[in-house]
Amino acid sequence: MKYKSTRGRSFQDSTYKTLLEGLSEDGGLYLPLDLPKIDIKDNDIKNFTYTDYAEKIIGEIFNDIDKEVLSEEIKLAYKSFDREVLPIKKLDSLYLMELYHGETFAFKDFALSLLPKLISRALEKENPDKKILILTATSGDTGSAALYGFKNVKNTKIIVFYPTKGISEIQKKQMVSVDGDNTYAVGVRGNFDDAQSALKEIFNDKEFKDYLRDKNYLLSSANSINIGRLVPQIVYYFYSYFTLVKRGEISNGDKVSVSVPTGNFGNILAAYMAKKMGLPIEDLICGSNKNKVLTDFINTGSYNANREFYTTNSPSMDILISSNLERFLYYELEEDPDKINNLMNKLKSSGAYSIDPALLNNIYGYSYNDQETLEEIKRVFDNYNYLIDPHTAIATAGARDYLKNKDTKVLVASTASPFKFAGSIVSALGETCSDEISAIDLVEDLTGIRAKNFKKLLNSEIKQKRQIEKSDIKEVIREILK
Ligand SMILES: *Cc1c(COP(=O)(O)O)cnc(C)c1O
Repeated sequence: MKYKSTRGRSFQDSTYKTLLEGLSEDGGLYLPLDLPKIDIKDNDIKNFTYTDYAEKIIGEIFNDIDKEVLSEEIKLAYKSFDREVLPIKKLDSLYLMELYHGETFAFKDFALSLLPKLISRALEKENPDKKILILTATSGDTGSAALYGFKNVKNTKIIVFYPTKGISEIQKKQMVSVDGDNTYAVGVRGNFDDAQSALKEIFNDKEFKDYLRDKNYLLSSANSINIGRLVPQIVYYFYSYFTLVKRGEISNGDKVSVSVPTGNFGNILAAYMAKKMGLPIEDLICGSNKNKVLTDFINTGSYNANREFYTTNSPSMDILISSNLERFLYYELEEDPDKINNLMNKLKSSGAYSIDPALLNNIYGYSYNDQETLEEIKRVFDNYNYLIDPHTAIATAGARDYLKNKDTKVLVASTASPFKFAGSIVSALGETCSDEISAIDLVEDLTGIRAKNFKKLLNSEIKQKRQIEKSDIKEVIREILK
């Protein structure tokens, strides 16, 4: 496969090179030159497992990676999941894709269990005498999923910087208990912005980059602009659709809509790409919290990031600039890089841009504040005796509002285990508790629903004890690379 940038000036002639490069040099995001159409035969619907779908769909896009190698890495990646990789739960016309049965209990595991292995293979092929250093600042789910994904992967080292303030106990526990020989989680005293800005400086620090080059390290980040984060996510929309066909819930060819709680626009973009690859998707439903920049964009055509930023109970969606929206715009604007350059320049200079809202026909936007999110968790629990996390609640609420004017079945992305956000579940059920860890027991008591594997995590040992001032980031990296 060859790849092109949304800004029109960068190209790559292989998947491996594109995975290693991440963000393209012209500042745009890479997309496959041609999206293949996927044909799933009746016989495949009957027999395919999750990894069969993954091999077929990822293999059609990453068609220049050796089939055997890809198959081996995919099987290994999804072996770390529960045996049933992706259970689907029916709640009337909604079908919840439980995307949280990987190692860190959130959907990011789908891509981050596979991408590190492919990056390691890419390095072996393209740059055999180099190693990769992944540096990431995280406010939550990405950090732990990346640590688990890169754990003990050959020729890679990963250092995740997490803020000591504004991160949940559970998320922190997940990071500091990772025990790979190449994984490091470092607490930076302060909030997420402190960690993020300190790290950004390093990515622009020429002297430090020279130092890394001398040590034979290529610098990379694990964020969701890498095409390798996107492609594995396309798979679960195909898998889920055909699982409904197999169960007789729909007939092959029937259209369904898809509802996704959205932050950086990666997950919903994967659904959009699945549609472009031939999956019968009617509409996309984009759910936001109080940071509703996407809802406003979808309803008016105007994107405006000049607004107050809120911290909410769905923290993985607290975001004002959704990078992957650029890929969506590229497709919607006739794949014209001039139009994208124009919009992105406006975004950079003024924080805002507009497009014709008529283009946004098959996408619906809804937003809910914290209180509405908790009410939705409670409503779903009362009606179905089923728990959803706050992010997922935004997607089920969006699907319900959408269905007021539509009559279709909706696949809902359930993006995290409810036990990851046990504190919010306790509030939703009208109780209080002192800390998140005791909230988990309380949720079990109140609902009779068991946290199962999740509890193992809480008893795991703390391996990572580093905590630093933000001015010491370079120092700590040097020490780790020694
Ligand atoms: C990352 C994340 C999201 C947002 O997904 P995007 O691909 O960034 O839109 C939603 N829910 C959870 C639990 C997440 O971790």
